[in-house]
Amino acid sequence: MVSNETAYGELVEVILMTGLDSRLVYRAGGAMPRMPMVGDLLRVPLLNRTELGVVAKIGTSQDVEPSKIKEVLELVREQPVLTPELLALAEWMFSYYAAPMEAILETMIPVAVRRGAKSKMRKYLRAVGPIEQSVLDELKKRAPKQAKLLEFLRDQIAPSPKIALLKRLGVQSTSCSALVEKGLVEETSSRQDRIAYDDEFNEVGTAVESVDVVELTDEQSVAVESMLASRDEGGFKVHLLHGVTGSGKTEVYLRLMEAVLEGDGGVLFLVPEVSLAPQTVDRIRARFDRLGVDTAVWHSHLSDGERLDAWQMVADGRARVVVGARSAVYAPVKNLQLVIVDEEHEPAFKQEETPRYHGRDVAVYRAMLSKCLCVLGSATPSVESVNNANQGKYRLDRLTRRVDDRELPLVHVVDMRREILKENRMVAFSAELREKLLTRFELKEQSILFINRRGYSKSLLCPDCGYIAYCDHCSVTLTYHRTDERLKCHLCGIEKAAPTNCPKCNSVKIRWRGLGTQRVEESLLKLLPRARIVRMDADVMGRKNLYRKILGDFRRGRIDVLVGTQMIAKGLDFPNVTLVGVLEADLSLHIQDFRAGERTFQLLVQVAGRAGRGDRAGEVVVQTFDPSSAPIQYARRSEFEGFLEDELYQRSELGYPPFRSLVRQVFQGPNPDKVTFYAEQWVKKVRPELDDSVDIRGPVPAPLEKIKDQYRFHIWFFHPRGHSVAARLFQLRKEFPMEKDVRDFIDVDPVNLS
Ligand code: ADP
Ligand code: ZN
Ligand code: ZN
Repeated sequence: MVSNETAYGELVEVILMTGLDSRLVYRAGGAMPRMPMVGDLLRVPLLNRTELGVVAKIGTSQDVEPSKIKEVLELVREQPVLTPELLALAEWMFSYYAAPMEAILETMIPVAVRRGAKSKMRKYLRAVGPIEQSVLDELKKRAPKQAKLLEFLRDQIAPSPKIALLKRLGVQSTSCSALVEKGLVEETSSRQDRIAYDDEFNEVGTAVESVDVVELTDEQSVAVESMLASRDEGGFKVHLLHGVTGSGKTEVYLRLMEAVLEGDGGVLFLVPEVSLAPQTVDRIRARFDRLGVDTAVWHSHLSDGERLDAWQMVADGRARVVVGARSAVYAPVKNLQLVIVDEEHEPAFKQEETPRYHGRDVAVYRAMLSKCLCVLGSATPSVESVNNANQGKYRLDRLTRRVDDRELPLVHVVDMRREILKENRMVAFSAELREKLLTRFELKEQSILFINRRGYSKSLLCPDCGYIAYCDHCSVTLTYHRTDERLKCHLCGIEKAAPTNCPKCNSVKIRWRGLGTQRVEESLLKLLPRARIVRMDADVMGRKNLYRKILGDFRRGRIDVLVGTQMIAKGLDFPNVTLVGVLEADLSLHIQDFRAGERTFQLLVQVAGRAGRGDRAGEVVVQTFDPSSAPIQYARRSEFEGFLEDELYQRSELGYPPFRSLVRQVFQGPNPDKVTFYAEQWVKKVRPELDDSVDIRGPVPAPLEKIKDQYRFHIWFFHPRGHSVAARLFQLRKEFPMEKDVRDFIDVDPVNLS
């Protein structure tokens, strides 16, 4: 870093972590214990306040009156908090996503790091040199406790944590001190890493069966070779790994990681959900333990302390692998040589608050800055990524068969309209699904029941007058919770007792429609009274360890049927699951979103992919009211190509992404007239300022017209090339004052259009 220190060393340009989006010049004088470096976190004065800021440049070309330059107050951390590469990433995000720099830096630098918190120290023990058996035998006679400790340490490769070890062996610390005095044991201290999912002394949630390195299938070999060739060529390359479910994509990632880790490179591995991190981490740790490589876990459910330790391990270069959800893309991995994004099609990679970035896209950009290989993997790649591959921007590698040539599951589509006619009432399970659930239970095989709930929820309906229970504050139906007979709004959280008579016509026939996890669980209990059934939905998701425990129990065969929503559709690999039931498969088709078809197709293929991953073939029953719709039919036949051709054709006809970029701007406030007024004024203002190629639609009411009494209108900006428009809007917006009760946000490449 010495190269950053110039003759002007004492003046620095600082990006403040406050509303200001400009760089201010400060003097790094006496308060600095050393020369400033790019990426240093500083405390600096601003007016009569103290603000945090990051050094963006040593020296300055700004013309500032020297007497006006204030002194830096404090260096917050010994180490810079951002590498020059991460700083460049921040600058790119600022221009691309048109988000305030403050929000970007807050996302990139964990809270505990910003506070300057330090990791705790922890003591370790190890035996000194080879211990002669005679020494041990001698000790055994006179000091058996010392012998016990020494014998244990003799057999360890790595130093052992002192306190935990003494407690476990039942040895006093005096015995330990005696060994230290004799020079047989050495005590060291290093940072205590609060490693998440460190299962050393805990219950192991997702045990990995074997560490054996498997022999690659032909297709896996071809993919690995092709990616290693790109790596050897050097520079930035993106590969799209399109591998059907169970084709062994993870094994491909592991081989690439091996190549990088055997050298001195670092790896960034992104997964869409926190819940998928542990199973990946376990596999990585098992595989690379022999190389002495540490893996850090990184996601939003970590405590501040855990996050700080993970950050410190990575920043020090002690952990060369980082696995985590989207925010892990900012981990300060050293010498980054490989970026992997698993399940790259997942909407969860998009952050739905400022800065509204897409984890996958930021990952690709970061790989570009690091001039390294980036691999995007999925069984159902996004239309955007496939289009990039078609255009030659990404290289496409395909795994078309499952490992060991296991069959892809057979998919049966059941028309629920006929089922209801047959039974003359609404039923949760078709006859076919009921029969298959029974068989699986008798065979002691596991089943998964998946409830497609995106965009809808179970609600109260009056069959006599058509009344539906809506939230008074949001434009969504209320969710009926049967256990406590209450109606709840999932957007604003308001709840009330469910009426026994229709509020409109007083009919007593009022009842709920749609299927919730609770109702499915109840029907299932009636069908299989002796089965062990566990429900997994948002309530469960909130509790960090419960989620892991359920998956662990399921893996060990302690659960027969797992009932859940979206969160059980992804990435899970349970060999004993031979049946997957999908309920209300078409619900996700009816949302106002040009990606509805893509989402439905992806969901069905992914869920189906959970079946038949072991030695026995799997089956899938898809229940739907719309059996002939294209996404359902393509998914039934696993026809990715056909689906994609249709989808790309439609998108290009309509000029939707990926053929044009989309920026969405949402205006919201309690008074709908005021909100429309400002939104319309805004369009009048920006239209002449933007290029003619920008196609502006709206303002119109957003599909979710009201949330928490806030009325919402949106404007869509279509244009041939992405970010230029957002950056311009961001600038213009600063010159467009609105009343306080009208707010807006800009969403570049929006994923959620509701
Ligand atoms: P995907 O991520 O593509 O759905 P996984 O990577 O989870 O698939 O692999 C599915 C299963 O196949 C895993 O249990 C994995 O250990 C196993 N597997 C992967 N590659 C091989 C191989 N070459 N030989 C044998 N088993 C393999
Ligand atoms: Zn009624
Ligand atoms: Zn509400």
